[in-house]
Amino acid sequence: MILVLRKDARMEDLERLRGRLLWMGMQVTPHIQQDGRLSLAVVGGAGGEVLLEEFETLPMVETVMPFTRPFKLAGREFVKERLVVEVEGVRIGGDTLAVVAGPCALESEEQIHASAEAVAKAGANIFRGGAYKPRTSPYSFQGLGKEGLRYMKAAARASGLATCSEIMDVEHIEVMCEYVDILQVGARNMQNFSLLKKLGEAPLPILLKRGLSATYQELLMAAEYILNGGNHRVILCERGIRTFETYSRNTLDIAAVPVLKELSHLPVVVDPSHGTGIRRMVAPMARAAVAAGADGIMVEVHPDPDRSYSDAEQTLSPGMFAELMETVRVIGPAVGMEIPTGRES
Ligand code: PEP
Ligand code: MN
Repeated sequence: MILVLRKDARMEDLERLRGRLLWMGMQVTPHIQQDGRLSLAVVGGAGGEVLLEEFETLPMVETVMPFTRPFKLAGREFVKERLVVEVEGVRIGGDTLAVVAGPCALESEEQIHASAEAVAKAGANIFRGGAYKPRTSPYSFQGLGKEGLRYMKAAARASGLATCSEIMDVEHIEVMCEYVDILQVGARNMQNFSLLKKLGEAPLPILLKRGLSATYQELLMAAEYILNGGNHRVILCERGIRTFETYSRNTLDIAAVPVLKELSHLPVVVDPSHGTGIRRMVAPMARAAVAAGADGIMVEVHPDPDRSYSDAEQTLSPGMFAELMETVRVIGPAVGMEIPTGRES
């Protein structure tokens, strides 16, 4: 239920209303100011559903609108303005493309520095790399942990980049907040509700990847867990889904871009690396994502891709990534998107 207050309502009125709603056992969001009006949302009642009539007679309330979709905070009914997430001078969701690039896994100090330099030079603005890796086999490389994060932050800052890395466990929140600017929730953890709840209290933005077989609604409901916890900085990421097609690792669902942007005010990033699993398909699908209106792309790049500890088959060389960026520079302006320029470190 969205409660829009009268034009002459002041903060005291809003606080009084909030107090009353809480006393009624309601779950209430912080207020927002939109179109010159204060409003807040009742997202849950004491015993589940809430009735419109209960609110219409409350003091200073002008309009009461029921939510028509279950993703109350991730949707566009309450927050109408598009979200722009800002980290380390990088804006995700604005009119400049967020380019998240780097290796699948952080492997060594040398590999980390070489990757950061290469992606910065080609125009990336956020450096990615996993320190805690979700591997199918327990015998595969599991990641460098904290040591990797330390190298990552140093390399990224030396190249003027923000950082993004996957969080696998609530236990790692503290250490990751020390070194990382954006916490990534991987596809396998999209419905790890206890992790999502904790991330609702985290001080960093969350890049939430679509689960391997998740619907749009399930992705948005996962975002809802984080938003409901009080963290309003969520970025959605389409990374391909499992379909009957076996040729590629996943089927990248480009339609997710216009659909999610219609359903939600949250920025949408596309990962064509995991979305295809095939190196030669990454650039065409990255271009398609930008043409479709994505707010960003996430691309795996390694100084020596064939020797990557993980996801070698889908990882680009610095040269391939630079070429991809050149073509994206042609497409971006056609859809009103500025493409960041490369920088030497
Ligand atoms: C990754 O980004 O390296 C990763 C493991 O992604 P996903 O969760 O999409 O498989
Ligand atoms: Mn990977």
